[in-house]
Amino acid sequence: MILVSACLWGLCTRYDSRVLAVPTWLAQLPHADILALCPEVLGGLTVPRPAARIVGATPGREGTDVLAGRARVLTAEGLDVSAAFIAGAQAVLARALAAGVRRAYLKDRSPSCAHDPQGHNPRGGPGQGVLTALLLAQGIEVMEVRA
Ligand code: SF4
Repeated sequence: MILVSACLWGLCTRYDSRVLAVPTWLAQLPHADILALCPEVLGGLTVPRPAARIVGATPGREGTDVLAGRARVLTAEGLDVSAAFIAGAQAVLARALAAGVRRAYLKDRSPSCAHDPQGHNPRGGPGQGVLTALLLAQGIEVMEVRA
């Protein structure tokens, strides 16, 4: 079973409610092998919702710092949504482990799903999302998908 960011699978889960086209290579994978989930929605956040970013974290380890309480996820208005992000990531992890997931394809530039530890993405974004940190800590391979 492969975990996929729900928005990469064409589901309406993004903060801005925009629906993404499913990458061709992803659409060609056996649908029965795909577990498409959104940690922010599972954490109780709405669609649409205010954009949020991680503040106070070490670049490349942002998600780990949020999980450890060393950094926070804030909306542009300063609302702390860290608890929702962590709860949602934990919900995804629980479902992924139950399904036997060993690999995840996650959306880039997301405070939940990003995985760009060296900062190579020319469009920026965090180096590590909250869900990414949790999955990596469990030995699940994370591949970032630019979309
Ligand atoms: S990038 Fe992750 S958190 Fe954001 S909408 Fe997609 S699945 Fe949800």
